[in-house]
Amino acid sequence: MTDFAATKAMFHLPEGVIYLDGNSLGPLPKAANAHVGEAMQNEWGDKLITGWNKAGWMALPVQMGDRIGNLIGAEPGHVVVGDTLSIKVYQALASALDLAVPERRVVLTDNGNFPSDIYMAQGLLRTLDKGYELKIVDPEAVGDAIDDSVAVMMLTEADYRTGRLHDMATLTAKAHAAGVLTVWDLAHTAGAVPVDLSGAQADFAVGCTYKYLNGGPGAPAFIYVAPRHAGRTVPALSGWLGHELPFAFDLDYRPGAGIERMRVGTPPVLQMRALEAAMDIWDMADMSDVRAKSIALCDLFIAEVETACPSLTLNSPREGAQRGSQVSFRHPEGYAVMQALISRGVIGDFRAPDNLRFGFTPLYIDEADVHGAVEILADILTNDLWDRPEFKVRAAVT
Ligand SMILES: *Cc1c(COP(=O)(O)O)cnc(C)c1O
Repeated sequence: MTDFAATKAMFHLPEGVIYLDGNSLGPLPKAANAHVGEAMQNEWGDKLITGWNKAGWMALPVQMGDRIGNLIGAEPGHVVVGDTLSIKVYQALASALDLAVPERRVVLTDNGNFPSDIYMAQGLLRTLDKGYELKIVDPEAVGDAIDDSVAVMMLTEADYRTGRLHDMATLTAKAHAAGVLTVWDLAHTAGAVPVDLSGAQADFAVGCTYKYLNGGPGAPAFIYVAPRHAGRTVPALSGWLGHELPFAFDLDYRPGAGIERMRVGTPPVLQMRALEAAMDIWDMADMSDVRAKSIALCDLFIAEVETACPSLTLNSPREGAQRGSQVSFRHPEGYAVMQALISRGVIGDFRAPDNLRFGFTPLYIDEADVHGAVEILADILTNDLWDRPEFKVRAAVT
């Protein structure tokens, strides 16, 4: 059984704050300060350039990939970290299209996907200039839209606004039966729900490490390539660190072995040291315990909010099994309500047009946090405390 009191004690959570936004940016693992500090002094400071060999920097992207792979059901040696999620989406989609049935011209996604994934697909398809069409359907219509016109199905497993989950295993099986390759974005599922890439036979997957995995702002993304494709994938972003022999400095690109070829350029070493401290905490947790507690916390929050805050409307699946690790409620003045809430120390976020979004992250959130958050939310709504000009000024990041 995971000791959640022990994992909570591993995070720096500011006094007087209830942090319900770990779905956007996980909190600071206490050990990261010293761990990153040591890397700065003993590795960067004292080893300088020799750190790439002597401090093992070069091997970190695959090492960190394997630790993440443990949480998402990936085979060892098939995940690598680096770059940003948007870039990894581009890379995965380009590779999938390269392996797809040649004459097919449809990339299938849904309108619950995160805009950056859609923008990156639009940019890639425009650059390829081969007549590809990005077909965007309602999330519920994805299954029926899988047919033999589709080259690649590109989906985000959990909807960033509502937490609604796609059924990865069922949709992947349906896609494969129609000869369609799959790209799964795990941004809101890695570290949130148990993921089984290998069991689902997913082709490509990507995700980020600064949300549920707690790697810190700007932490690198990750990419998974199924073993059966690993040796056949030709990277579109063919950077030198994905080359078979980066230090041969050849003028022609030759892909590196397996997942190494999905590396692009110099990896963010200090950020990976911070991520390492976060993954040490994940080593204390069992994903099925995390899932059970996440569902319990979300159910509790929904029940308490529906009792105490009748002006809010649930905008997430009521059934725990169909939801990720977040809950959204709608309110016409959602932005102002969230700002009022943040001013009282309850940090969630706002997603247009009217969603108040709350993430529940069992590693450091417990029942007392849920009670405390709902109490303040109810006070703000019952007494219209959100109705002040300063809460209605939109910041750059919502
Ligand atoms: C958070 C998120 C992103 C963000 O991409 P970055 O390149 O890391 O800024 C992309 N896609 C999805 C599905 C996300 O949830």
